Amino acid sequence: MNETAQTPTVQADLADLIVHLARLGLSTAATPLTAAQWTALRYFARANRLSRTPSAFSGFHATTRGTASQTVKSLVELGLLERRHNDSDGRSTLLDVTDAGHAMLERDPLEDMRKALARLNEQEQRALSASLGQVAMSLAEAREAPVFGTCVDCQHCEIEKDRSFCHQAQGFLSPDEMAAICVNFRPVSAVI
Ligand code: SF4
Repeated sequence: MNETAQTPTVQADLADLIVHLARLGLSTAATPLTAAQWTALRYFARANRLSRTPSAFSGFHATTRGTASQTVKSLVELGLLERRHNDSDGRSTLLDVTDAGHAMLERDPLEDMRKALARLNEQEQRALSASLGQVAMSLAEAREAPVFGTCVDCQHCEIEKDRSFCHQAQGFLSPDEMAAICVNFRPVSAVI
């Protein structure tokens, strides 16, 4: 018998645990939306203006544009998302979460996981966030998938005392924009 092959490595245990946590956290048996619909609704509630498109969501969700469009369409039909004209790109539309969508997010099944994470102290939460962020970045690189993040960790962001500036969008950033998920995010750690 090969003992080595039967002994799980720490990495294998962690990978299994992360998948198990994701499945458990996203369990939607008692909710009216599918896991993909919840992911989309959360994404559009957190994404910045330029990232609220079906194609940006398909990159975030690591799915095809067709599948992402179907998920978006179903949420529009449920009245949870609404389309509006994209002033900076006439060929695409932007998606906004409606009041009904925000009300639905109050029933988000991921809330249980947030509560479980809140039981960790602040130092543990920061360490976990840094480690998982690093793993997400390595995996995205291996899969040639886009990396999503927020301004504070982005190399396009010039953080100043009173207000910060985005060199990619060539504009100052409001506190809300600083906290939003961005499709143009470029991690500081990617600077060579
Ligand atoms: S600083 Fe980076 S994350 Fe923030 S809006 Fe600009 S590109 Fe996006």
